[in-house]
Amino acid sequence: MKALTFHGKHHIQYESIPDPEIIEATDVIVKVKVCAICGSDLHVYHEHEKGIDRGCAMGHEFSGEVVAIGKEVKSLRTGDLVMSPFTTSCGNCFYCKIGLTARCIHGQLFGWREKGRGLHGGQAEYVRVPLADSSLMKIPEGVTLEEGLMLGDILSTGFFCAKQAEIKPNNTYVVIGCGPVGLMAILGAREYGAEKIYAIDTLPERLAKAKEFGATIINATHQNAIEVIKEATEGRGADAALEAVGSSTTNRLAYDLIRPGGIISAVGVCTDLHLPFSPTDAYNKNITYKVGRCPARYMMEQLAPVVQKKKYNFTSIITHRMHLSEGVRGYDIFANKKENCLKVLFEL
Ligand code: NAD
Ligand code: ZN
Repeated sequence: MKALTFHGKHHIQYESIPDPEIIEATDVIVKVKVCAICGSDLHVYHEHEKGIDRGCAMGHEFSGEVVAIGKEVKSLRTGDLVMSPFTTSCGNCFYCKIGLTARCIHGQLFGWREKGRGLHGGQAEYVRVPLADSSLMKIPEGVTLEEGLMLGDILSTGFFCAKQAEIKPNNTYVVIGCGPVGLMAILGAREYGAEKIYAIDTLPERLAKAKEFGATIINATHQNAIEVIKEATEGRGADAALEAVGSSTTNRLAYDLIRPGGIISAVGVCTDLHLPFSPTDAYNKNITYKVGRCPARYMMEQLAPVVQKKKYNFTSIITHRMHLSEGVRGYDIFANKKENCLKVLFEL
């Protein structure tokens, strides 16, 4: 089969790799119909994440059709259309039972193979999905394959970010970063009841989308976000900052933007060694810092009804659609934010 594979820094190839096969009785094989590049794939692309095998199929955002099932798979049949979270989960361990599916003790991340172990990704014609009954979800009535793909990662992650911010109607929230995840966090904050949402970025086209999604925008190139937020909150600061970038700079900004007793909800993957504020800083402001991988399998089930209502045009963030064979170009466009790119979708 064909796949987009990792070959080192800024080096993705469209090439043939062996078709996946059923290995465990609980596996299924999904024929991918749509897949996408996530901001998280860029950490691999820029090789901030070392250790991933050369030749590993990239990606963890995909949806498609079940074409083969292991002997012990109970809830799925060939022909079912399914959406997948970006990690697998068993549905049965302590973490799955409390809704923290991202920390399933049997969970694996798609598109992550190290020393020959782990899972190939979904930017491929086919993908093997372990623990299929509990990992995959049939695409519900009224949800498209593209929306399903988004539920499997960025939509769930943005809403998770908002959920961690403990939204209350009269409070002030600030979203840092208007990439796909930050934009979904804006919609999440709205859905959970926020009325005052500010959003920070430097890219005009992304800020325009944030505005369309209901945020008051702050262009960090021209405006001082801390001053804007202070002014909007009688000098206090925001009740929560929703960090959707993943850098020391933006984590520090989040700290500076919130009021004493405020929350930082960080979903950006920050690969720096230390937090940009000290234990004393944290103490002196009584902050709550919440961080981590989104339990997408849990969230997608909660959020499918929100998608079904068609209240938000989630897929309007997809600016580029192309065939998987054009993936190398897709990475270049998305990673380098060319052509006002917000999100690249591959069709197969
Ligand atoms: P992206 O790179 O497309 O978007 C990041 C945005 O932040 C860009 O629009 C950029 O212009 C903006 N930005 C960068 N520096 C900034 C600054 N100093 N101030 C304001 N804006 C700034 O990525 P994405 O797909 O939206 O993903 C965002 C982050 O979320 C990534 O780190 C990704 O790895 C992470 N992520 C985490 C999870 C999770 O489970 N926690 C899931 C998916 C993605
Ligand atoms: Zn992702």
